[in-house]
Amino acid sequence: MTPGPDLLSQLNPTQAQAADHYTGPALVIAGAGSGKTRTLIYRIAHLIAHYGVNPGEILAVTFTNKAAAEMRERASHLVPGADKLWMSTFHSAGVRILRAYGEHIGLRRGFVIYDDDDQQDILKEIMGGIPGIGPDTTPRVLRGIIDRAKSNLLTPGDLDRSHEPYISGLPRDAAAEAYRRYEARKKAQNAIDFGDLITETVRLFHEVPAVLNAVQNRARFIHVDEYQDTNKAQYELTRLLASRDRNLLVVGDPDQSIYRFRGADIQNILDFQKDYPDSKVYMLEHNYRSSARVLDLANRLIENNTERLDKTLKAVKGEGHPVVFHRATDHRAEGDFVAEWLTRLHHDGRSWNDMAILYRTNAQSRVIEESLRRVQIPAKIVGGVGFYDRREIRDILAYARLAINPTDDVALRRIIGRPKRGIGDTALQKLMEWAQQSGASLLTACANAAERGILDRGAQKAVDFAHLMQGFADAADAYPPGAFLRLLIENSGYLDLLRQEGPEGQMRMENLDELINAAEEWAQDNDGTIQDFLDDAALLSSVDDMRTKTENKGAPEEAVTLMTLHNAKGLEFPVVFIVGTEEGLLPSRGALVEAGGIEEERRLFYVGITRAMERLFLTAAENRMQYGKTNAAEDSRFLEEIEGGFDTVDPYGQVIDYRAKSWKQYRPAAPAPSAVKNTSPLTAGMAYRGGERVRHPKFGEGQVLAVAGTGEKQEVTVHFASAGTKKLIVKFANLSPV
Ligand code: ATP
Ligand code: MG
Repeated sequence: MTPGPDLLSQLNPTQAQAADHYTGPALVIAGAGSGKTRTLIYRIAHLIAHYGVNPGEILAVTFTNKAAAEMRERASHLVPGADKLWMSTFHSAGVRILRAYGEHIGLRRGFVIYDDDDQQDILKEIMGGIPGIGPDTTPRVLRGIIDRAKSNLLTPGDLDRSHEPYISGLPRDAAAEAYRRYEARKKAQNAIDFGDLITETVRLFHEVPAVLNAVQNRARFIHVDEYQDTNKAQYELTRLLASRDRNLLVVGDPDQSIYRFRGADIQNILDFQKDYPDSKVYMLEHNYRSSARVLDLANRLIENNTERLDKTLKAVKGEGHPVVFHRATDHRAEGDFVAEWLTRLHHDGRSWNDMAILYRTNAQSRVIEESLRRVQIPAKIVGGVGFYDRREIRDILAYARLAINPTDDVALRRIIGRPKRGIGDTALQKLMEWAQQSGASLLTACANAAERGILDRGAQKAVDFAHLMQGFADAADAYPPGAFLRLLIENSGYLDLLRQEGPEGQMRMENLDELINAAEEWAQDNDGTIQDFLDDAALLSSVDDMRTKTENKGAPEEAVTLMTLHNAKGLEFPVVFIVGTEEGLLPSRGALVEAGGIEEERRLFYVGITRAMERLFLTAAENRMQYGKTNAAEDSRFLEEIEGGFDTVDPYGQVIDYRAKSWKQYRPAAPAPSAVKNTSPLTAGMAYRGGERVRHPKFGEGQVLAVAGTGEKQEVTVHFASAGTKKLIVKFANLSPV
């Protein structure tokens, strides 16, 4: 541990100045890999070690829970007391504040957090009968409207008064009415959604200054990383928190703003100096992350954006390897190309952990995964349909939610038929009508089904269900989270349901076991109730640990990372592949029709490129299967913008002309005679260049994909129809030409 001034000696002069910033507002604005996050962590350590600030008065807001945990870990190596730091995302900060003080604004104890699907369930129910909402309006569209309104701190009334007659294609009063009904329904169920985590906290701060003051005591020094991606609601939350002590340090890069579609407003960072005229501004101009060639490519690309703040970003590292571009014949060949290079680099001593594959959409990962699997490359996938999105997991968590919050009608409707309890659709309809009329919850309706004559037939079944849930409610307080979930699984009849489902059910049971493990592991690190566990599970963003760990159950420790470009923000890897650099993917189809869409996609590509430390590979396919059809694909327009900054190669790694649109039409010059000459009698006649068809005694016929080394050490990578891709040493492989 090196406390005191030594800390700053690990930074360059400008970084050190920023880290030494003591009080008042400050802005660190700089390009990718310039050490913004590093400076932020050192600033926190320096506040404690040098200025004697109590770690319990420091807040740092990061983009993911994982980033927060990493930040805490890094700070703990620099100074003591890091465990008292408040490091979290905006959303988890919101949960924490609302759990502590939500009662002041009418949130009852035990409120639940609804995710996207829960939101859509409510919307489906309330949207019927609203004039202007036709049968082709999906709940998803409505959810988008509501989420965006919340990002911008707009109420239903604000939508009514909007100047636009239409919002996402819906008449504005219809949108406002759906929003209004949605809020009412959600409130009746004592639930809040993701957007509310911020907007309700903002409301709480506005309405109850004493609460704001109490939270401010816990956050005298505030830091926000990735400030360019804050939306209006998050901006307002930050502003309120910082309004008393004004010790706010934000860091960001306008060129990396990639969440505009979710309401992020690049203007927040650009206006920082207007909001805080006395703020100090620190610009970092050296990139410590990427090789000069990678950085050059990034700079070439981002210069094409018109709405940007010009910044300098100079490489500290040397030239490094050329950036490689490969245009594969189709999406499968693209995956094989990536697998081939991964194998090669791993063979040269790279850990799988050092390498990442980034794509624009989750759907692209499947083909890549298959290519990796064929050659047995271990992979971990971040995001996608996650563990917590699986049906059985959601079902059991819905039981838990209802046990804690008896007004959670969404949870009740999810589980009342799993397993079947003889309460059919008609009965449920009657229960809902009664609940609606008497302003009670569905569970109350069940409990009263017999007494109040809500149901004639099957009333007792509803009453039994209410009793079952009452038992679970009592157990919720008495058991630790893991044991409580086990009790739900076993006593709800859910386990029996799965037992009847055969192998499919077996798999689901294993997932439930894993859920119990996750809860038990969680309880080792956290001292909380099932309620806290549910909060954390609800908040897991796609880049977060708990999810990836569980989702990749059984995945080896060492693995190549697969994730979307969005999820890669803030991270770095020695080797990066960006696949699918095609029109319609990057830039995405949607971006083409939206104002500013192309610039946002360019920033996204910029984020991807700047994740690479040493080697960068870009790939595209000439034909790609999408929506079940294979179509000709076109290179991304961005490739032309950066042409000259990369080498185009054929499948065997030979450099070809980028403009030779298909490598198959490209005839490389005949190889120099020296390349063909053999140096070892053992391999006489067997000098491979790639592309040859060969036969292996065990694997059968295949094609040479790549060649490495010469003479005795020559290795070939061969794709066999029967056995997949294998790497072989020519000397021992006993290959014969076909
Ligand atoms: P991004 O914009 O992608 O979030 P960033 O500006 O936050 O990037 P960091 O992640 O903090 O950049 O730093 C990038 C890399 O450079 C890290 O590996 C970091 O440790 C290293 N680095 C930054 N500054 C220095 C320095 N002064 N000396 C040595 N290494 C540094
Ligand atoms: Mg960063």
